[in-house]
Amino acid sequence: MTDHAPHNKPRLLFLNPPADEIVIRDYYCSKTSRSDYLFPPVDFLMQSGILAEDYQLDFIDAVRDRLSTSATVKQVEKINPDIIFFLAGAVCYQTDLDFIKCLAKPDRIMVGSGDIFLADPKNWLEKYPFINALSMDFTNHDIKHYLQGRYEKIERMAYRLPGTGEIFAINSEKPNTQLEVGVPQQQLFIHPSYRFPFARHPKFTIFLTDFGCPFSCSFCVMSSLPYRFRNNTEALKELQLLHSLGVRELFWLNQTFGIKRDDTLQLLTEMAQFTPRFSWTTFCRPDQLDDQLLSKMKEAGCHTVIIGVESGSDKILKMYNKGYTATQVRAAFDLCRTHKIQTVGTFVLGLPGETVETIKATSRLARKIGCDFASFHTAVPRAGTELRANAIASGDIDGADFLMDQAGSYIAMTPKDLDPETLMALKRKAVLGFYLRPGYLLKQLFKPRSWYELNNVIHQGASLILNGLGLRKKKLGS
Ligand code: SF4
Repeated sequence: MTDHAPHNKPRLLFLNPPADEIVIRDYYCSKTSRSDYLFPPVDFLMQSGILAEDYQLDFIDAVRDRLSTSATVKQVEKINPDIIFFLAGAVCYQTDLDFIKCLAKPDRIMVGSGDIFLADPKNWLEKYPFINALSMDFTNHDIKHYLQGRYEKIERMAYRLPGTGEIFAINSEKPNTQLEVGVPQQQLFIHPSYRFPFARHPKFTIFLTDFGCPFSCSFCVMSSLPYRFRNNTEALKELQLLHSLGVRELFWLNQTFGIKRDDTLQLLTEMAQFTPRFSWTTFCRPDQLDDQLLSKMKEAGCHTVIIGVESGSDKILKMYNKGYTATQVRAAFDLCRTHKIQTVGTFVLGLPGETVETIKATSRLARKIGCDFASFHTAVPRAGTELRANAIASGDIDGADFLMDQAGSYIAMTPKDLDPETLMALKRKAVLGFYLRPGYLLKQLFKPRSWYELNNVIHQGASLILNGLGLRKKKLGS
């Protein structure tokens, strides 16, 4: 697979497999889509920057295009790729792997990425002999090294050696290193069917300037990844490309915005120069937000910050190593309001150690902080997390069980004294208690918005409530 002339490059297909529902499988965080949002898989986007020079790239998103399994197979075989880089997710991993098996051929290389593979990747390769390699960092160059036989350069990947079939699992942690992906091939991924509830312009895509998270919240898979960041020169080139493609709306997908503070402030200053300006949303922790960062974010076009609150109980926040208190959470939301930045609070219900009281405290905090939207998840023991290791050790979950969905379509674990039905009832109460307050509804109704935003907000609100109440299941395919 080395040194092919440009016109004779091997074909590499990025494949998001079909599913019965709208599922998200990228960034090691699979789930059903709560408010029908769907964006390009970031694992593919980042690899496209690395692989474009040596491979002819194709992309099939069977979830986005609502393809049935047979229609997807037809499209794949029409392309007839030499290599398939596929996603699989804990939310539907068995059907994902059954489907991927149908596409395997002796001379086709199959490389996977997904949350399930982070736990014991060697075991997955032993169990599924049609997979050649599993990537465990979608921002490094391992896939290219593997395809081109430079095995000694691999950093975080499990792979089968061609010829002997011997399996290796390499995990050389390199914290605080820069990531270099070049300029991702955004043109391949921009598509009108991708939807994002907070988007204010129809032409939108995702953007990423780091990988993982340096904080150590014990339930979160991001804390198990080596934190890596991208230099501003590369990020700016990508912004220039996006601007030239007419993209105005971004979901800046960093898991905690502003970690590399000086670099971030500099990039925001550059970003504010674009005319017309970008308009964007990002994730952040309450204790990272301050006046300086928020005013720079606002100047650069940020309109929405999604803040991981998690719990209204200081005891639970401490137990899971969050590193901030409910008082700091309130202050962060107040600050965002001062800067006229819309907020979304995200909350986790049902972590081990929780009681009915702590869940009620979370629900109360969601109403008190004045966030514009609230998103309530159920706890999931994701592969690679301390939460999962503890839950297996204490016998709360079976180590062989990977099926889970933080959106709550399937409850993988509950605290000791709470059964799944009670947990779901508390979640429903939290959703209704937040969204059906008359004052909240009136405020949302009279907020000035464009027609595009209004349509998005109505759609998103209805989906969030219906999903939160467990009343909606979207079937795909035909
Ligand atoms: S700050 Fe957020 S992204 Fe980072 S480890 Fe904690 S929960 Fe995960």
